[in-house]
Amino acid sequence: MSLGFYIQFPFCASKCSFCNFSSQVAPRAAFGPYVRAVKEEIRLLREKLPSFGVRPAMLALDVDSVYCGGGTPSLAGEDLLGGMFQALRERFRVSATAEWTLEITPGSAGANFLECMRKLGVSRLSIGAQSFIDAELSSTGRLHTAEKTRQQISLARSAGFENISLDLIAGLPFQTPETWQKSLEETLRLMPEHVSVYLFEFDEKSRLGREAASHGSRFHAPELPGEDFMAAAYEQARDLLKRHRYVQYEISNFALPGFESRHNQKYWQLGPYIGVGAGAHSFDGIRRWANVEDPAVYRAKVSSGELPIAEARELSAIEQTEEFFFLGLRQRQGVSLEEARRKWGGMPFNWWEKRAEELGRAGLLREQDGRLVLAEHAYVVSNEVFQEFIA
Ligand code: SF4
Repeated sequence: MSLGFYIQFPFCASKCSFCNFSSQVAPRAAFGPYVRAVKEEIRLLREKLPSFGVRPAMLALDVDSVYCGGGTPSLAGEDLLGGMFQALRERFRVSATAEWTLEITPGSAGANFLECMRKLGVSRLSIGAQSFIDAELSSTGRLHTAEKTRQQISLARSAGFENISLDLIAGLPFQTPETWQKSLEETLRLMPEHVSVYLFEFDEKSRLGREAASHGSRFHAPELPGEDFMAAAYEQARDLLKRHRYVQYEISNFALPGFESRHNQKYWQLGPYIGVGAGAHSFDGIRRWANVEDPAVYRAKVSSGELPIAEARELSAIEQTEEFFFLGLRQRQGVSLEEARRKWGGMPFNWWEKRAEELGRAGLLREQDGRLVLAEHAYVVSNEVFQEFIA
């Protein structure tokens, strides 16, 4: 078994209207003190996590994936990022072959920065392209253009990055089937090894989502193309990416063979990971815990020598069963029935077998080589299927 490590940098240059993450716009002066707190949190983990119930053996595992996300971590610059990465290497056993991902926004990572990242061990870039239509980008407050994304990829290739992921969002204001097709074709032309396709979330956590919910007109909410469009756009993306050799290994993720994200697979396969930074989440196989979200409170907690944990919970056996299914079934490979029966076959935990049978009869799940998998035509309604695995 190996460990994943997530480092959160919660600051951005501006706030995108569709963003439902807890990122915030802050002056550069805030970056240094925040990074100092992250380094201190990394130091505290070894000392304090065992008294919180986490097995020391977990902290001794090899770290085979590191993911530095946000926010926009590339804004921090090479010295601050280098400091955090160094602190991690000093306290944990980071494998020489670890998948090391850095999130960047187009235009935020110059040649010199990228070269430094390569030297620091970053092996994978996740680039928030979102769209290749400038009007769609500017309408949501993105600061880059399609041309900046093209230039960013070219710079990354010149710096030697051979594992690049692009994010796209379907359902942005002004999007049409034609512009979405253009964004997909442009993505394919740039040949990233990995593509994530997300659907705009109509939730109250983003400014655009709140505006749409209240039928307001700010943030171009009346120009949102709606849920039927998103369902069709998702199928359009699946079809086109599949025809270009990308394997859909998870509901939102497509990769050329061998470029599936090792880090994200830990989330769906319930592997252990530790997250540091404001709002970061961790999991040790049984317990889930989350740090405080506000960077100022986070810093204050860490500087007083405390772990900045806001909430922690040990999952009950039923909750572990639920997670096993609704996270595992997100993957193309589904879940092992033998493993499910071994772990949760006895009463009263075999409630899931009846649900799986019903969903199988409805054609939404199928059994394949001893595994339970989500039928492909059900990907678009996956959330409804997963609801059935809430006991
Ligand atoms: S850059 Fe990413 S994290 Fe920052 S506001 Fe935009 S979507 Fe959110």
